[in-house]
Amino acid sequence: MNTYKLIGPFKQVLPMTGLPLNGALKDEQLNVLEGKVGILLQGETIAKTGDFDTLLNESKIIGAEVVELDGDFVALPGFIDSHTHICSSGSRARDYAFRNSGKTYLEMAELGGGIWYTVTQTRNASQKELEAGIAERASRHLSEGVTTIETKSGYGLTVDEELKMLRAIQAVNEKHAADLVSTCLAAHMHPKGFEGSKAEYLEQIGSKLFPILKEENLASRIDIFVESGAFSPQEAKPYLEKAKAMGFSITIHADQFSTGGSQLAVEVGAVSADHLEASTDKEVEILAKSNTIATALPGATLGLGCAYTPARKLLNAGACLAIASDWNPGSAPMGDLLMQAAVLGSAEKLSNAEVLAGITVRAAAALELTDRGTLAEGALADLAIFPCNNYQEILYQQGKLKPAMVYKKGQKI
Ligand SMILES: [Zn+2]
Repeated sequence: MNTYKLIGPFKQVLPMTGLPLNGALKDEQLNVLEGKVGILLQGETIAKTGDFDTLLNESKIIGAEVVELDGDFVALPGFIDSHTHICSSGSRARDYAFRNSGKTYLEMAELGGGIWYTVTQTRNASQKELEAGIAERASRHLSEGVTTIETKSGYGLTVDEELKMLRAIQAVNEKHAADLVSTCLAAHMHPKGFEGSKAEYLEQIGSKLFPILKEENLASRIDIFVESGAFSPQEAKPYLEKAKAMGFSITIHADQFSTGGSQLAVEVGAVSADHLEASTDKEVEILAKSNTIATALPGATLGLGCAYTPARKLLNAGACLAIASDWNPGSAPMGDLLMQAAVLGSAEKLSNAEVLAGITVRAAAALELTDRGTLAEGALADLAIFPCNNYQEILYQQGKLKPAMVYKKGQKI
């Protein structure tokens, strides 16, 4: 598996190296290798990037396989989607139509829609059926250049049903070319029919589910939806502290409709606070002064027709901004990370560097992954290769330009 492979020549290669993790970025800060550029792989990792002809000579000496490209191509690290709900069952097309025709969330719930519909469909699905759905969505993501996909549970809402979801994610991760990073979101909402308070539900998840997650290595990350209607910061805090004490990393669905979640995220040392559409200047300041990564989810903005995460303010204040798809059947059905990132860039006036970092190196940080998100020597050979002669074409075409080739751990997909 340590065979060498040279790919190129590329018009441009963007290794996404040398960028600060926090704060605003100018395109001039991007390290753009130009002209006739090659990428030399060694097995599953990047050996080096540089002048194609020099690497070609080297390849002859070391006996590398040469994949010579004909045409104009630009290579970037494979994209990382740090927030998805691609483990789910059932379409919410009816909800979408209802919402756009003016029905309220409560009216939709009364008509049998809302998140509870997805919970019911997901509970009714077998583990194998869930696996098929995850694999199908992961394949689509992979073909669009997304080589690492965070995947949450959260539509089971009992110990057994959450385990079914997380085992499905684990099973797909073992056989699919894309890497899935699982997160336990058993605290998505207080389940209907649960005999007990929200605190009692969280206590049950913490005492019964968390130990099994450890035993079966099903998830190393715990997420919670902090929102009126879901869990308050006061209810969430002991749950997250217990998770932290057991060695889990924390991420929070925060400030989607009301504030409180991001402040809690910083207090408990969460790796990321995701959503933030309702964050005010106060929350922006709190996040910017912390190590908690702010994750924008423009897919939810597009799905719900609400505000964007204040990405520009967050970056100007010095926060680290990741961008993820939130792909889910209810509020973000599109699941096109690049398109959504491009639209956020236009809406929030983000540089190409800020948008591309948000779906590569900064998204890797949101998942605490140091082996990807750049094309540094030794990083995973995950590549998104676009048919164009300048990287600016990629966001300019707002997600319509798809990769011509994708490599995952050195293998062409
Ligand atoms: Zn979400």
